[in-house]
Amino acid sequence: MANIRDDIEYQKLLQLSALEGADPLRVQAAGGNTSIKQDGILWIKASGTWLQNALTSPIMVPVKLDELLQVMHQGHEDANSASLFVAQEQQDKLEKAAALRPSIETTVHAVLPQKVVVHVHCVNCIALAVRNDGETAVQEKLQDFNMAWVPYVKPGLTLSQAIQQATDQNTDVIILGNHGLVVAAESVDEASRLLNRVCEAATQPARQAPAADTDALQTLTGNSGYKLPAFTESHAVACDKAALQIAAGGSLYPDHVIFLGQGSVVAQSGETVDDVCARHQQPDGQSPASILFPDKGVLMRGDANDGQEALARCLSDVCLRIPASASIHYLSESQNHELLNWDAEKYRQKLNQ
Ligand SMILES: [Zn+2]
Repeated sequence: MANIRDDIEYQKLLQLSALEGADPLRVQAAGGNTSIKQDGILWIKASGTWLQNALTSPIMVPVKLDELLQVMHQGHEDANSASLFVAQEQQDKLEKAAALRPSIETTVHAVLPQKVVVHVHCVNCIALAVRNDGETAVQEKLQDFNMAWVPYVKPGLTLSQAIQQATDQNTDVIILGNHGLVVAAESVDEASRLLNRVCEAATQPARQAPAADTDALQTLTGNSGYKLPAFTESHAVACDKAALQIAAGGSLYPDHVIFLGQGSVVAQSGETVDDVCARHQQPDGQSPASILFPDKGVLMRGDANDGQEALARCLSDVCLRIPASASIHYLSESQNHELLNWDAEKYRQKLNQ
C-alpha cells in the first residue's frame, strides 16, 4: 500500500483544507472537516484541530472504514466513538504523538459513498438553514444541484443516519438545518469546484451595520477584565437591530453553543459588564464568554480564546445575512443541553482551551 502522504489527492485535500479553514465565511475555529477514502481507510480531520493548520501540523486520522460502517449499520453507539476504529499502523510518528481523535462528524463522511467529502460552516448556508422556511429557501437558491435538505439533529451518528435517509447515490450537496453544508465528489478538484458553486449560489447580501461605539464599551468594561473582540466584524450583531433580535432569540447552530454557550447574553439599558455578570452566571459558574450591548457592540470575557473570538465573529456574519422578516428556527432547550453535556464535545472544548 502506497504511503498516503505521497498521494497527490491527499496533498490536494490538505491544501483545500487549509484554504477553506482560513476563510472565516466558510470555517470558524475547529469547525468543519474534510476527508478522503483510500484503500479502505477514511482519512478524516481530527476532533478539535483547525482546518487552517492542515499544511503545518498533523490534522488527519486514519479510520478503518468497513469496521466503522458495520457498527453504523447496526446503529451501535460505538459508531460515535470513531477513535475505536483508528488504523494506528497507518499513522506516522507525529500523528501518533498528537494522539488525535477522529472528528465528531466522522460518521457523516463515512456514510457518503464519494471519495472526497468536505463539510463547512458556510455563513451564507447557515443563514438560510436557520430559517423556518429554510428548506424552501435552500431549494430555491440551489435548484441546479443534486441537493438534499436534512433538518437539524445532533451531529454524529444520528446525523449520519438522517443523511443516509435523505440522500441517494447522486446526491452530492447536503444542507444541514441549523448547521451547515456538506459536498461530496470523486476528486478534490471536483469537490472544491462544487463547494465554490454552492457557496456562491447561497450568497445573500449582508446588511451594513452601524459602527461600534468602542469608547462607550471601554467605559462599560470597568474593572471586569472584559475586552474588545479580536475582529471588528464581531460588533455588528449588537449594532444592527434585526441581527440583535435574531441573536437574542436563542442558539442558531451547534458550534455557537460549544464555544460561546447557549444563546447570546444581551445587556439591558444602562447595564455595565459587572451588572450583566451579576445577573447572568453561566451553568459552569463562569461569566458569559461574550456580551452584546445594543447599538454599542460586543465585549469578550478577558480569557476568551481564538475559537471563541472566531465564533463571536461568525454570529455577526450569519445574522447580518438573515432577512429581518425571517422566522427563525432555534435549537431547542434539549438540543442545547445535549451539545453541552456530550463527552465528545467536552473533549473538543478542552482542546480549544
Ligand atoms: Zn459541522
